[in-house]
Amino acid sequence: MNYIKLIVITLGFSLSVLLADRALGDSDLKLYTMECGTFDVADMKDLSGTGEYDGQQLEMVNPCFLVRHPKGDLLWDTGLSDSLVDKVDGEVSGVWHAKSRIKLLDQLARLGLAPNEIEYLSLSHAHPDHSGNANSFASATFIVNELEYKYMFSEQIKSYFGDGYSQLETAKMVTFTEAHDVFDDGSVIIQSMPGHTPGSSVLLIRLQEAGNILLTGDLYVHARARKLKTMHRYNDRQVTLDSREKFEALVKLEGARVIIQHERDDFANLPQFPAFLD
Ligand SMILES: [Zn+2]
Repeated sequence: MNYIKLIVITLGFSLSVLLADRALGDSDLKLYTMECGTFDVADMKDLSGTGEYDGQQLEMVNPCFLVRHPKGDLLWDTGLSDSLVDKVDGEVSGVWHAKSRIKLLDQLARLGLAPNEIEYLSLSHAHPDHSGNANSFASATFIVNELEYKYMFSEQIKSYFGDGYSQLETAKMVTFTEAHDVFDDGSVIIQSMPGHTPGSSVLLIRLQEAGNILLTGDLYVHARARKLKTMHRYNDRQVTLDSREKFEALVKLEGARVIIQHERDDFANLPQFPAFLD
């Protein structure tokens, strides 16, 4: 099968899943954005394999998202570990300086939510800035791409990154390959967009007032990566390019607002918690 044909078939399949029941979105759907840490990057050299950003600095945000639906709550990404809040100077790892000023669990508590009351958990991918507090939600149904599950619980990756998510290995689970319709009404859809990791995903939320929103995970790590078509030096290059082509087609089809999760301006333009989009 040639390459173009494969893209068309893959895209066609994904979009047909996405289009199912698209009119059935619920007006009670809400999207909350919570602070789950920040990064100061002293040198952006790892953010492109082709040298565009060498020696430059970047401030990155690192939000977590709560989607509230009449059928339950979905937590999308769990941020850096809440334990970071107790470290006044944060944590430095190479060029990365991570800090956090407020705990995810305290933000959920402001909505009257205990961790064991969250019904569904999904991670854009398993990296520790997205999975830091995942063990707190081990009683939720974990929705995960099959390839990401294999990756995150492989011996090597589990020993690198697994501290925050180890308990998910045996959690209640729903696995998927292409896409998963979380509430079975077309309003909230997890879509596979691999490349940053083997089973990375993005989240589509179809809100009544705010319109369609796409949360990128780390398909793009900052705004210039989308404009300049750069990617993290550790990405699988071709797989990422294929995912981005699929993603941009989806943006057009849905007329979606794109939220690059680590991008400061995108975060700043979202309602400040506990305000929400609906
Ligand atoms: Zn990240």
